[in-house]
Amino acid sequence: MSKTISIAIDGPAGAGKSTIAKRLAKELGYYYVDTGAIYRTVAYFMDLIGISPKDVDGVNRYIDEVTVEIEYDEDGTQHMFMNEIDVTNDIRTPDISQKASLISAHAVVRDVLLDMQRDVAKKHNVIMDGRDIGTVVLPKADVKIFLTASAQVRAQRRHLELQAKGSKDSLEKVLADIKQRDHQDSTRAIAPLKQAHDAILVDTSCMDVDAVVAEIRRIVAEKVGQ
Ligand code: C5P
Repeated sequence: MSKTISIAIDGPAGAGKSTIAKRLAKELGYYYVDTGAIYRTVAYFMDLIGISPKDVDGVNRYIDEVTVEIEYDEDGTQHMFMNEIDVTNDIRTPDISQKASLISAHAVVRDVLLDMQRDVAKKHNVIMDGRDIGTVVLPKADVKIFLTASAQVRAQRRHLELQAKGSKDSLEKVLADIKQRDHQDSTRAIAPLKQAHDAILVDTSCMDVDAVVAEIRRIVAEKVGQ
């Protein structure tokens, strides 16, 4: 099997990772892997069965009861399956965002999910986004980007997204949630959110989507000639 190409995009919540990664994947003909959705699926399962995301014993006891699968539809959209049920839309709530951040700190959860992420990258050219892709999941990725923006800008973007879905949450609440997740994700003991030493920092605070896509395409062309 010929070597596959992997592009790792890490960064905090609301930096634009999924929007950018989806566009790039389409343009380059790669698989887009949203790894946050995997943690969200586990968080959703624990929530359904009434296990608090902070309950170490409960999470350890029930982690083997959930199967998490990724499937792609004809237009390349990633669907998440929890015990064979499509939960793609159910996992996109602010409540599950917070719970996913807490669930993802457990060693057992990260261990169980590591191989499935690596397997996709072994089989396909991928653009994978998350928090620890360049540092832990794919430390040999061909291209590593750390995408960030100020907390205020990230909150504004997330607020618009949520409003479009009918949410009434205030900008202040969205900003507070983002700051709390940033703190949890970057201070946890295992695989914390941080820039890999060989990742290229792209600050999108003052850039629109087209400009970010163009910048990353330039970096990809330089690194892998595509
Ligand atoms: O990217 P998204 O907001 O969907 O991620 C939800 C949560 O999943 C993050 O706040 C983070 O705690 C966790 N996560 C992680 N490692 C990844 C991707 C997401 O710990 N690679």
